[in-house]
Amino acid sequence: MYDVRSLKAEEFINDEEILDTLAYAEANKNNRELIEEILEKAAPKKTGKGVECAGLSHREASVLLACDIPELNEKMYSLAREIKEAFYGNRIVMFAPLYLSNYCVNQCVYCPYHIQNKEIPRKKLTQEEVRNEVIALQDMGHKRLAIESGEDPVNNPIEYILECIKTIYSIKHKNGEIRRVNVNIAATTVENYRKLHDAGIGTYILFQETYHKESYEKLHPAGPKHNYAYHTEAMDRAMEGGIDDVGLGVLFGLDKYKYEFAGLLMHAEHLEAVHGVGPHTISVPRIKRAADIDPNVFDNSIDDDIFAKIIACIRIAVPYTGMIISTRENEECRDRVLGLGVSQISGGSRTSVGGYAGYSAEERPHDTEQFDVSDQRSLDEVVKWLIDTGHIPSFCTACYREGRTGDRFMSLCKVGQIQNCCHPNALMTLQEFLEDYASPETKAAGEALIAREINKVTNPKVLERAIQNLKDIKNGKRDFRF
Ligand code: SF4
Ligand code: SF4
Repeated sequence: MYDVRSLKAEEFINDEEILDTLAYAEANKNNRELIEEILEKAAPKKTGKGVECAGLSHREASVLLACDIPELNEKMYSLAREIKEAFYGNRIVMFAPLYLSNYCVNQCVYCPYHIQNKEIPRKKLTQEEVRNEVIALQDMGHKRLAIESGEDPVNNPIEYILECIKTIYSIKHKNGEIRRVNVNIAATTVENYRKLHDAGIGTYILFQETYHKESYEKLHPAGPKHNYAYHTEAMDRAMEGGIDDVGLGVLFGLDKYKYEFAGLLMHAEHLEAVHGVGPHTISVPRIKRAADIDPNVFDNSIDDDIFAKIIACIRIAVPYTGMIISTRENEECRDRVLGLGVSQISGGSRTSVGGYAGYSAEERPHDTEQFDVSDQRSLDEVVKWLIDTGHIPSFCTACYREGRTGDRFMSLCKVGQIQNCCHPNALMTLQEFLEDYASPETKAAGEALIAREINKVTNPKVLERAIQNLKDIKNGKRDFRF
């Protein structure tokens, strides 16, 4: 039976509840009155403290996703833009993935790292190689990484991951440093999550892949990941281990998107109900071509229109959660969904083990790639593109370093207060990027953007400090934050 507070996967992601939800959404997809009511409930409201959004339940959001009335769909997109603007403004936070090892004992049928793929070279970075990768990433301008690794207790034990995190945080090359390491590794024990927490990680990210249990078991025929309950309950263990910020995600294309969407929101509701804080981020990857993997064999793939609608509906349903898309998506698609709710993107990414050091911006090793990168631009090009399209590329990592995680982050965010920090932090970290890593064209465009945007800081004290900090950054000082 469905129970949002249960700690059992099959009760908080309850198949019967999802099927009922989908039937309800289908029955109401042309119910104008109900859809308007839902949109009204989700609209930002001004309060004494700032702006607040009520969010939506999985049932209400599923009705929006099913909505068949064109003008209400347009209203939905406008509302998603309005919410994005209210809580994230025009800032986009930048990050890069760092692949540590592609040794893996699992058999995920959609991933080339599965154990039965004997064609792919297996590689695990030494600490010296981690160092070289991190220097290459710092030299691009990155401050925030997501580390990725296959699951292999012999080759990639938790001690190896912890050693890599320590190495990454220790490297200060020229003006560079990695200030936040997010971790995307397999579901593990409370004890290991505690070790990751103590190592100072940012967000723990684990994609559910699919919430449909039967499909999940077929797509993961063997290996530890086969255990649906252990995987689905991982975020509860992570939070028990002290990790405040967790990131959810579904690999769209594996099962029916409406089912995944309802499951994803039920998972978010569960975290909020049990731990008092919802997911810090939600990622929306789509299945892509890779060595040994043909996306056409998965018949649930979604087109760009449905993808955009999913993003808009997530933005409306969970307004305070960051949303991430990767370089799996091409420039055109990324452009479209930025305004609808995406708040973080990767740039200049390599999805292979050891893909950064020793390669020029144009070179790209393919032998150990996890998936094809559709957006192959360099970080400088992505930054320039964001500026040209009216966004502020941000390298901010301030919240986590100021202890604003979990419910402390969410309570600030929920009244729109986070913007008093985000906007100046975005401009200051962009200024650092312009000084240290940008091409002359990007620097010129960025300087003009900062000059325009700085005056949008309304608090006079914050404005004064931010202007001084920008001057200090130009004079060689680094790492200011609100
Ligand atoms: S998705 Fe992860 S767990 Fe599955 S085969 Fe790939 S690396 Fe291993
Ligand atoms: S101030 Fe906090 S929420 Fe805002 S961009 Fe920086 S880290 Fe993110």
